[in-house]
Amino acid sequence: MAAIISSRKGITDMSQAIAKYFSDDQEVKNIHVIKNDDFSARFPGVKGVKNDGYSKFVAHPLEGPYAVLPVTRIIIFKKNPSLHKCDARCQNAKGRICECSCGGKYHGAGYGAE
Ligand SMILES: [Zn+2]
Repeated sequence: MAAIISSRKGITDMSQAIAKYFSDDQEVKNIHVIKNDDFSARFPGVKGVKNDGYSKFVAHPLEGPYAVLPVTRIIIFKKNPSLHKCDARCQNAKGRICECSCGGKYHGAGYGAE
């Protein structure tokens, strides 16, 4: 259940990519925004992903009990990904575009090579 990313994120051909949202390594859905104050009160010490200068993204787990989780990474997943084996390049990536076998789970998470 991934939303189509908007063009302002730098993908011009919307049919070529989907956005995936993660809270740490857990994919999340139903993305919405809350004010920065609420965010830091709910999730002390969590940096989160900014929506704008005043609000950040939160979301719900794909399955399981209801919860509100901070969105910590947004991945742009290519529509026709190469699905290469997940490696340090993915895990240490600075950009958001992922096409490897992890499906974005480890992209830019900074875990380093296994
Ligand atoms: Zn990966």
